[in-house]
Amino acid sequence: MIKRFIRRVLGLGGRSPQRVPPERHGIAPEAISPGARKVCEALRGAGFAAYVVGGAVRDLLLGIAPKDYDVATDARPEQIKPLFRRAHIIGRRFRLVHVIMGHETVEVSTFRAADLETVEKDEHGRVLRDNVFGSLEEDARRRDFSINALYYDPGSGEIIDYHGGLADLRKRVLRVIGDPETRYREDPVRMLRAVRMSAKLGFTLDPATRAPVRRLAGLIEHVPAARVFDEMLKLLLSGHASACVRQLRDEGLHKGLLPLLDMILEQPLGERFVTLALAQTDERVRTDRPVSPAFLFAALLWHQVLAAWKARQARGERSLPALEAAMDEILDAQCEKLAITRKLTATMREIWALQPRFEQRSGQRPHRLLEHPRFRMGYDFLALRAASGEVPAELEAWWRTYQDADLETRRAMLLPETGPRKRRRRRRRKPAAAPQAGPEG
Ligand code: ATP
Ligand code: MG
Repeated sequence: MIKRFIRRVLGLGGRSPQRVPPERHGIAPEAISPGARKVCEALRGAGFAAYVVGGAVRDLLLGIAPKDYDVATDARPEQIKPLFRRAHIIGRRFRLVHVIMGHETVEVSTFRAADLETVEKDEHGRVLRDNVFGSLEEDARRRDFSINALYYDPGSGEIIDYHGGLADLRKRVLRVIGDPETRYREDPVRMLRAVRMSAKLGFTLDPATRAPVRRLAGLIEHVPAARVFDEMLKLLLSGHASACVRQLRDEGLHKGLLPLLDMILEQPLGERFVTLALAQTDERVRTDRPVSPAFLFAALLWHQVLAAWKARQARGERSLPALEAAMDEILDAQCEKLAITRKLTATMREIWALQPRFEQRSGQRPHRLLEHPRFRMGYDFLALRAASGEVPAELEAWWRTYQDADLETRRAMLLPETGPRKRRRRRRRKPAAAPQAGPEG
């Protein structure tokens, strides 16, 4: 009773939602994916409420093809699962159900209440667990932005809007539901989501939504690194990575994510390189071509590796061991903040380690490099380096021609073994017990 009164006074609830009929919002029932429709039908058939919610409703209203579908229901996970042939309960922090329908995975979540008093938080206000189930109204309130809290009712075709999401959509504004500072403290990742959504949709951040971000940016440090990594990946693969990274910088959010990124971006070569890599990634995402996260992270960190590598060589370390040590140094520092997975770091290392091998254009070495399983990625990386002015354009042009040429042309293209290099190589090789395969410094 008192709780409800306080909520009403704080403007946190008790409002009746706006219900907008289909002829006024324009989403046709057939626009909803078959999988999401079937999921809602099955839930409703079993006597539960079921709504399409989140990004899909938002995107359909904006005329964008939804990436995936989320369904919200009053059924509990253990009541949802038996209704479908292929369904799994997932998640620890939030338990939800993935229902597989042909090629589609529909994410079904039970209405949740972020009960401000009972919820478990850390000392910065971050919510650790909130599996308290709730009503539709409470579910709407715990969502991040007004435009993400629109519920499409497949029964009536209505859109239910508790927080003025339709009006914000029209104004192209991203607005946090409730008090922005509290909501960012509960989950600092919402600040990254704000950047990603506004870059993706071309929306402006509402002033109150934007204001606390710079001051609270440091809270991201307390979020588990794996979650930050997931969000960064979404951001970088959104097709709007350039805009997102620019906005991360503008909002002061990049510092905790990619340490030293601002330093790199201040050097003309580094800035050019990262800008080109992001633009290329966006272009690939938008034209539905595959993108390698490893390639992208390798690009984001390359100028740090390069700087560490040069510094080590200047201290007298030999080239290849120096490169290995530089890679370790940068990856160690980076993975503290951003839990880049092992599988990714292994590929990143391969891409970096191939780079010195492109300098060698005589004898058997170009042929051996061409046979390397990561040649293509290595070459694409070299092309970026050339485009940013870090290595001569002529080097990239040579490899571009070489890889497509016939055997005879390839042989003719080889550079002569240069005298001094050959002698140096021989001298170094002799004392080694077993000559190592691969590049020579
Ligand atoms: P997209 O899938 O296009 O990236 P989306 O809005 O669907 O965008 P999801 O991550 O799929 O994003 O989340 C689905 C919905 O869950 C969101 O629309 C929002 O309502 C809610 N949501 C997701 N993450 C949070 C969060 N950190 N805090 C509050 N609500 C969230
Ligand atoms: Mg989604």
